[in-house]
Amino acid sequence: MTAPLSEFITSLTMLLDRCPDEPRILAEGGALLAKLVARDDWLPDTYAQPHPQHYQQLLLHCDPAERFSIVSFVWGPGQRTPIHDHTVWGLIGMLRGAEYSQPFTLDQDGRPQAQGRPVRLEPGQVEAVSPALGDTHRVHNAYDDRVSISIHVYGANIGAVRRSVYNEDGTRISFISGYANQHLPNL
Ligand code: FE
Repeated sequence: MTAPLSEFITSLTMLLDRCPDEPRILAEGGALLAKLVARDDWLPDTYAQPHPQHYQQLLLHCDPAERFSIVSFVWGPGQRTPIHDHTVWGLIGMLRGAEYSQPFTLDQDGRPQAQGRPVRLEPGQVEAVSPALGDTHRVHNAYDDRVSISIHVYGANIGAVRRSVYNEDGTRISFISGYANQHLPNL
């Protein structure tokens, strides 16, 4: 494991060992993540490979107690997520390229409604999501001609969490994302 990632894991583990509340996790964990993505010289190439058809979620590390997981999110040119939620806190640190995150809320019929303007993340910047802050968004690569990469940290083993995708017509689809580089056992 590369030194900056190893230091991040150690620091975040020490933070979570103190059982902080969520605002403190997001503030202090966000500062640690900002430090990690302040330089772009540590991510191994195997965690930076785009897939030609869809974005990739590559697991970098999962805490043994599943208090957090760290994912390399690799965007091919023009790739985007559906509108989705997380159900746990999440921190998104931009490492390379740029991405847009459009927040949504659900109306009374369950249809997603865009809230405000998309937020553009540039290298070194960190954004937070959580059920307390606003948990539903759609994200896309800001570039149509190159790869972008963000490092995501979630308050669970996110690849195993049952969560939702929301269609424009208000239908909600349950999903478990898994990881592109790890096959989970069928539970
Ligand atoms: Fe997300």
